[in-house]
Order: sequence, then C-alpha cells, then structure tokens
Amino acid sequence: MTSTAGVARQSEACSACGGSLDALGHCAKCGAVFGEAYRCPLCGALADVERDSRLYYRCRVCGGPRIPPSPIPISEAEVQRLKAARSEQFKAVAFRVGAGFALASSALSLLVTSLVLVATTPALFAQLAALIACLVPCALALFAFRQARSHSRSFHAALQQAWFLAAARLSASRSGRLTAAELAELLRVDEARAELLLAEVSVQDFVYAESGPERLRVPELAGPSEVSVEAERIDATAGPLKQ
Ligand SMILES: [Zn+2]
Ligand SMILES: [Zn+2]
Repeated sequence: MTSTAGVARQSEACSACGGSLDALGHCAKCGAVFGEAYRCPLCGALADVERDSRLYYRCRVCGGPRIPPSPIPISEAEVQRLKAARSEQFKAVAFRVGAGFALASSALSLLVTSLVLVATTPALFAQLAALIACLVPCALALFAFRQARSHSRSFHAALQQAWFLAAARLSASRSGRLTAAELAELLRVDEARAELLLAEVSVQDFVYAESGPERLRVPELAGPSEVSVEAERIDATAGPLKQ
C-alpha cells in the first residue's frame, strides 16, 4: 500500500482492536475505518462502503451511492453527481410508490363503483360519469409511472457521471498511463468496467484536446437525460499516484 499526500494517513493502530491501519485508515483486522478518505460526502459519517447491485457501492451508514475511497480525494464534481443520483433515486422511488397507490385506489374504486352500479342501475349518464371518475386515479398512476421512469434515468446518468469523473480523477493523478487493472483495483470494480471507464476518459481527453475547454458532454455515460458536464479538468497538481 502507499502513503501519499491528500487523504492518506500514516499507519496507526486501530483504536477498536489494536490492529494496524492501512494508508487510507482501514483496519484489516476488524474492518473499522478512521481515515478521512472514508468520510461519506453525503452523510458526513466516517463509514466504509459496501457493494450494491444498483449503486455499485453504497455508504454503510446512509445507504447513499459512494465511490470507493482512494489516496486521491474525491472531487466536488463527483460529490455533486452522487448527491444528484441520490436525490433522483429518492424521487423515482416516491413516484413509483405514488403510482402503485394510485393504481390500487383506481382498481378499488372501479370495483366498488361496479358493485354499486349493478345494485342500483342508475341512468346511463350517471353510470358513465361514475366510471370516468374511477379512471382519474388511473391517469394519475400513469403520470407517476412516467415521472418515476424519468427520475430513474436521471439517477442512472448522474451515477455513471460520478464514476466517469472518478476514473478521470485517478487517471489524471498518474503521470504515466493508468491501466485497467490498476483502475479496477483503485475503484474496486472488475476490469471490464474499468476498461470501459478508461475508454470514456480517453474519448473525453481527445474531445477536450480537439475542441478546447468549453463544455464537454458525456453522451455515452449521460444516458437519455443528456446532462451536460462542465469541462472539469481534474487538477493534475493533486500529485501522482505512487505505486
Ligand atoms: Zn481494528
Ligand atoms: Zn453516508
């Protein structure tokens, strides 16, 4: 392991079990974390990350999306994307719950109305009005489902951008070329995904060199919502990653 500037800290003993801490402040013996690299940008707690099927990695305290800690501190742009991803995820879940509720109430009112209509057989106009009234929550459910899908796409886009920016940050911190295997180890992802992220970084570097530092777009990673990304060049002065 390395001991570099930034969030890395010197090896100390774990105050919980006395085991030794790695450069980032993680105790291999009991799993406790002490280094600032482990501070969650969303909840502010010093907490480890764990794998998650939707978020790749999530905070063990707040459950929000996280990028695994590394010797180079996470950038503000990444934090903003992670916050956006969490907010969009909340909205998507809220709309999905609302849609389910509206759909259920629509079905229930349709059932009750049908029973009442069978029992009372009112005028045709009244029957139609009652049935149309039952369809209002159905329309609301449809609207909510669409909103949920839209927020879900924005969530995915923000999350992909955060990971792309993380790959760009680690790539820029290295004086030589960062390999997929090295990136995979730093970001705790498989090599195929690291390769994909590196490819995106290369494409963006090429576009940046060609078009200048106006605005970069990350179409592949941005997904359908096409969020444009300010060309936030990773500050190379953060210092190269030592091996
Ligand atoms: Zn420990
Ligand atoms: Zn957290």
